[in-house]
Amino acid sequence: MLTPEEEDWREKRLALIRRYEAAEKREDFIKEEKITEILARTADPPRAAVAEVLSKARELHGLNPEEAAVLLNCRDAEVWEEIFATARQIKEAVYGNRIVLFAPLYISSPCVNNCAYCGFRHTNAAVNKRTLTAEELAAEVRILTQNGHKRLIVVYGEHPVSDIDFMCRTIEKIYATKNGRGEIRRVNVNAAPLTVAEYRQLKEVGIGTYQVFQETYHHETYRKMHPANTLKGSYRWRLFALHRAMEAGIDDVAIGVLFGLYDWRFEVLGLICHALDLEREFGVGPHTISFPRLEPALNTPVASAPPYPVSDADFKKVIAVLRCAVPYTGLILTCRERPTLRREVIPLGVSQTDAGSRIAVGGYAQMAREHIPDRQQFQLGDTRSLDEFIRELCEDGYIPSFCTAGYRAGRTGCHFMSFAKKGLVKNFCLPNAVLTFKEYLLDYATPATREIGEKTIAAYVERFAQQMPQRAAVLKEMLTRMEAGERDLYF
Ligand code: SF4
Repeated sequence: MLTPEEEDWREKRLALIRRYEAAEKREDFIKEEKITEILARTADPPRAAVAEVLSKARELHGLNPEEAAVLLNCRDAEVWEEIFATARQIKEAVYGNRIVLFAPLYISSPCVNNCAYCGFRHTNAAVNKRTLTAEELAAEVRILTQNGHKRLIVVYGEHPVSDIDFMCRTIEKIYATKNGRGEIRRVNVNAAPLTVAEYRQLKEVGIGTYQVFQETYHHETYRKMHPANTLKGSYRWRLFALHRAMEAGIDDVAIGVLFGLYDWRFEVLGLICHALDLEREFGVGPHTISFPRLEPALNTPVASAPPYPVSDADFKKVIAVLRCAVPYTGLILTCRERPTLRREVIPLGVSQTDAGSRIAVGGYAQMAREHIPDRQQFQLGDTRSLDEFIRELCEDGYIPSFCTAGYRAGRTGCHFMSFAKKGLVKNFCLPNAVLTFKEYLLDYATPATREIGEKTIAAYVERFAQQMPQRAAVLKEMLTRMEAGERDLYF
């Protein structure tokens, strides 16, 4: 049962959503019949059709839903190897070998919603919901910065304790919490849909990306998972959440699906339709796409036995097809997945991932405990430390990045996309990745990670010197300045 205060707040938000629904002129761009028809029409495509789509994908202009459906419907294991190879090529061409790292920070878990798959749902008494105090928040941030993190995604439930003013206050507090040389330089946000005016408030406090997952694009499944009288019950309020964020001037928005709720092929086309609609209206698609799979949560049968489970093999296909379809949109892999699978799928197109994560509210203060089921939304598959994960990335030939320069230099939204499309990500983002990685090695790494990390940097600088000697000389000079004590240098 909601308390009278919670009920009152929920009723007011619900009335606001109803007014919005009545006034919104945009047309629902998820045309289910069309998506279903496309999937049926492209079933079991001939090799030649797949080859044609892959050749278009290699031009880096993206794919439309019909073309993506040809890939999704491929049944031939040998041809899938070609799709994976194309996805790897595209990732290498657009992103090079850098992987951006961040950490999730759960600030508040009380929620007035009742999503069937979520451990934080209001009626789930088995999970204790709580909100960090200002002191606890600062303590969590200090632990994260002590581990070397520079980028966070903060997570809030939809509840009067974590309303827009609370979000702004806590984000300001995070930016203001310094820890010697440690600091958070980019705060991305995962929270419920807001009004345009509320998004403007968030823009004012300097957020990075705003992330709202539709969870499922399939209307009937959405209705089943999100009870009608809850705030999350409105499909359209959520579907256009990021349109409103962009209207408010938030350049970088992020979409996602919770895989396991409905057919994965349908959901991938839903994501592509969403990306295309944002691009049609605002000239730029989402900054990132996330593709979490349902993981078990305490006292939550839907999460423990998903209605449409996605196998590891199909999960790889989701990533590869998205990489081909939206080459300039970042793809985020999360610690929900097991270490071995993470290692396997990163080359297929992943550009960002979290590491060293804890997802209980206050979980970083209890780092020793990997799982705190009665305080978590779901269970994590990878609980290794950031340092351990970074060492593995270096072994696999990647450059870990904590870079926040693009955002602070105004390379966001349309500006970022035009920049990315000219292939310049490699020329700015890779040297910036090296600079932030150097910072990590100097200030936070274990000796073993420092050793392999320095070799990774040396090998990169040598290659870069052959390609762009002048720029490489500037980079070398910056690296020397960092060794002498300077920090936060970037192109
Ligand atoms: S998924 Fe989000 S909105 Fe739904 S119950 Fe969980 S925290 Fe609340």
